[in-house]
Amino acid sequence: MNQIPPIDLTRQYQTIGSQVSAVVQDVLTSGRYIGGSSVANFEQQFAAYIGVSECIACNSGTDALYLALRALEIGPGDEVITTPFTFIATSEAIAAVGATPVFVDIDLATFNLDVTQITAAITNKTKAILPVHLFGQPVDMSSIMQVAQERSLAVIEDCAQATGAEWAGRKVGSIGHIGCFSFFPTKNLGACGDGGAVTTNDKNLAASIRILREHGMTERYRHEATGINSRLDALQAAILQIKLPYLARWNDARRQVADNYHQLLKSLPGIVLPQELPGGRAVWNQYTLRLTQECHSSDYRDKVRNQLQQLGISSMVYYPLPLHLQPVYKSLGYQKGQLPMVEQACHQVLSLPMFPELSFEEQQQVVYSLKDCFVN
Ligand SMILES: *Cc1c(COP(=O)(O)O)cnc(C)c1O
Repeated sequence: MNQIPPIDLTRQYQTIGSQVSAVVQDVLTSGRYIGGSSVANFEQQFAAYIGVSECIACNSGTDALYLALRALEIGPGDEVITTPFTFIATSEAIAAVGATPVFVDIDLATFNLDVTQITAAITNKTKAILPVHLFGQPVDMSSIMQVAQERSLAVIEDCAQATGAEWAGRKVGSIGHIGCFSFFPTKNLGACGDGGAVTTNDKNLAASIRILREHGMTERYRHEATGINSRLDALQAAILQIKLPYLARWNDARRQVADNYHQLLKSLPGIVLPQELPGGRAVWNQYTLRLTQECHSSDYRDKVRNQLQQLGISSMVYYPLPLHLQPVYKSLGYQKGQLPMVEQACHQVLSLPMFPELSFEEQQQVVYSLKDCFVN
């Protein structure tokens, strides 16, 4: 029996390997490894793809979030509203600038920030809302922008898992004031190493981010701010330039995989499948369902996951512990039970194998195995 991994990056490389090798060779022979035309060209092409005027490439999605918050001059004493159901990088960036993350519960139907609960979390210290388009599913940006406008708050979109997703016909990362992207290899557009980007239509913010990303430097060896070193390597930029034109195709393939799972699993009792919100176009970085037999502990989900593993299917748990209950945020004073929806999600979620090259036969094997676990 075949082993089915949660993601297999070698299959994509097989389809574009010769193109990638050629541009890598070009960069290596050019002797220009930092900056240069491949970075500038990629920034232009990515801005055009997202539909914004400015793109600033950087070293990671985490740095993109940090640079965005710094450019908005968010710091000590400020609060940023975000979701407790995301990778730690989201709140880590808020803490890294000295601000305080304020966690608002999620909507179980989308796993994203519950937009109806944002207003109640706003205080006179709130500076920004930082929604995450989790698993490739766009947040209801219309509601977020309305609240932000009414209360004069900035909106930073964490698009790390959603490159190419759309809300109301616009790409995520072009709707809020700033969009933050990751090119970590497993993201929808992945480099062969670390990478990230910030997108915006605001020229002043873009100028600040360019300065902050390179040691606060405005001209050579003149430093006007305390910045960081966060450049995208020329090699990664060259590789991303090759990959960007394929992204729409790969995202379509992910949508097909999601559709197949939906058809194959829809009649199975005891699970809730992920749904696409009307108005959104998801790009399925993950296909994450909920096992609803148990909502107070993760025992049942973990048992199913182990059985699946024995049948050769690798599933994942994104995420087992919500951010508000992470040891690192103990001093923020959140209590167990305070954000019940996300706590339930953490006990119930299971992410099935998902990548553009996953075959229909493999998906059938995943589903047969899952059904097996339910019988036993
Ligand atoms: C991956 C990820 C990040 C961080 O991106 P890196 O490039 O790994 O630093 C931030 N937010 C979310 C939601 C992510 O999934």
